[in-house]
Amino acid sequence: MNSPARATRPPSPAPGLNADLHCHSTVSDGTLSPEQLAARAQGNGVQLWSLTDHDEIGGQPRARAAANALGLDYLTGTEISVTFAGETVHIVGLGFDADDAQLAAGLTATRGGREQRAREMAADLARVGIPGAYEGALKYVGNPELISRTHFARFLVETRVCGDTGEVFRRFLTEGRPGFVPHRWARLGDAVRWITEAGGTAVVAHPGRYRFSPTEEYALFTEFQAHGGEGVEVVTGSHSVAEYAKYADLARELGLVASRGSDFHSPGESRIDLGGLPPLPAGLTPVWERLGGRIQRAMAEPVPIPPAAPVPR
Ligand code: AMP
Ligand code: MN
Ligand code: MN
Ligand code: MN
Repeated sequence: MNSPARATRPPSPAPGLNADLHCHSTVSDGTLSPEQLAARAQGNGVQLWSLTDHDEIGGQPRARAAANALGLDYLTGTEISVTFAGETVHIVGLGFDADDAQLAAGLTATRGGREQRAREMAADLARVGIPGAYEGALKYVGNPELISRTHFARFLVETRVCGDTGEVFRRFLTEGRPGFVPHRWARLGDAVRWITEAGGTAVVAHPGRYRFSPTEEYALFTEFQAHGGEGVEVVTGSHSVAEYAKYADLARELGLVASRGSDFHSPGESRIDLGGLPPLPAGLTPVWERLGGRIQRAMAEPVPIPPAAPVPR
């Protein structure tokens, strides 16, 4: 992945940096390419960016190249689907080695059940009078291994079954509703290990979105830290202002580093644009302070090649 024009060196990013460390491209369930996202991030004033496609790192070389060509600092990223206490939890990995074989194999295994699940989702939708959902969702899929509920949601909006994707997830595709198929994703400890053993930092994504009791939430963070997890998303697109404060408190209490990411998927669907979030609350250690040495920065000037030293004889 290294070319002569680029290098990895350790800048020291400021705490108030406009970092956006969570978003999705056509390599998972976003509607923009990695290159379009890089341009949008830079145009919106993002200073440090990460593309975090679901269960997939295939877009990393493109995202990094596009970011660096624009002079935008980049961290590798992914968002791993995990099953914990019967609920789907997302773990964001940042700053890992994108060539790590164990991480790649773990993500391939995690993606493995998606096609069969999608066929079952379509069969369940057909039972309530919505035929053709598998083929309909596929039209929106950019990566054949990564068919997701988001692609079904776009089909249900296109066919006017629902007015927008928010309505889809209230009426369909969630537990107890048509089109929901329970699925076993990766184990928490495995996901954290794949990330950390590849040199990255694991972060609990959007903790405010899980339907956990306080006891279950505590268990999630306790196990996450026991496995080597270090971060929590505090400021993210689906958190309320009250949740920023709640998870800032949790980060301070548990000694977790804090992350910030829009979770941007699409101009037409996402409420928060790339770079559009408020800064992290005070008194937190930003995850990018921990990851300074993993930031991939385009070099401003090509490094001059020194003249060859005379060979001593
Ligand atoms: P999957 O990985 O196939 O289970 O799909 C999960 C994706 O569905 C998430 O990453 C979101 O992009 C999307 N999603 C889930 N719940 C909602 C919701 N309430 N509103 C909008 N999108 C949602
Ligand atoms: Mn998504
Ligand atoms: Mn997520
Ligand atoms: Mn996400």
